[in-house]
Amino acid sequence: MPIYEYTCQDCQITFETIRSIREADAPITCEQCQGNNVKRRISLFNASSGGRAIAGGPSCSSCASGACSTCGSH
Ligand SMILES: [Zn+2]
Repeated sequence: MPIYEYTCQDCQITFETIRSIREADAPITCEQCQGNNVKRRISLFNASSGGRAIAGGPSCSSCASGACSTCGSH
């Protein structure tokens, strides 16, 4: 499931929550002040689906040498 980041407009904290896509825009309360003035930030959609876009490098040690049968990304 994707990880979503939310920022509380009242206390300016940012917290992460793993939710289903369907729940992404559902109301959420700030985990610090329990307020409702929370905005969703840009989600980290692909954080757990390979990771190649995040680091820009190989997603596993085998990838460094080209074809990779471990993660199947080539
Ligand atoms: Zn808050």
